[in-house]
Amino acid sequence: MKIEKNTVVTLRYKVMEASGKLLEDGKEPSAYLHGGYGNTFAKVEEALEGQAAGYRVTLSLAPADAFGERDESLVQTIPKTEFPPGVKVGGQLEGRGPDGQTHLFTVVKIKGPVVHLDGNHPMAGKALRLDVAVTQVRAATEEEIAHGHAHGAHGHHH
Ligand code: ZN
Repeated sequence: MKIEKNTVVTLRYKVMEASGKLLEDGKEPSAYLHGGYGNTFAKVEEALEGQAAGYRVTLSLAPADAFGERDESLVQTIPKTEFPPGVKVGGQLEGRGPDGQTHLFTVVKIKGPVVHLDGNHPMAGKALRLDVAVTQVRAATEEEIAHGHAHGAHGHHH
């Protein structure tokens, strides 16, 4: 079966930074609903379109094609007094960015009375290399198409 709109693709993918640093070892397969549902990077869908199980490809993604460019306006400082006690470096909290959107902020530094936050995705601004191996392709169920994601062993669980 070929990969086309409304097929569920099971794949293993290794993710590396451009430097070669391994981010995801690809041991756990994952499944996604193909066809522009936003379940994987558009460049991945583009590369897999029309392919079948057994296909392997290595993709280099620019930051804009992966987790986006860094947005320095999402780097903020906030008085420690505005935080619940126990705020730690590496902790995460939801907050509103200057764009009015909700972002997940990571505490990057606490210096004296000031907490430094970064609302960028940890992988923002990074170019990635993906080694993708397609292990299975099947037709999506009507329910999966209605939900816009894959179900089953390696898909979405409700
Ligand atoms: Zn669902």
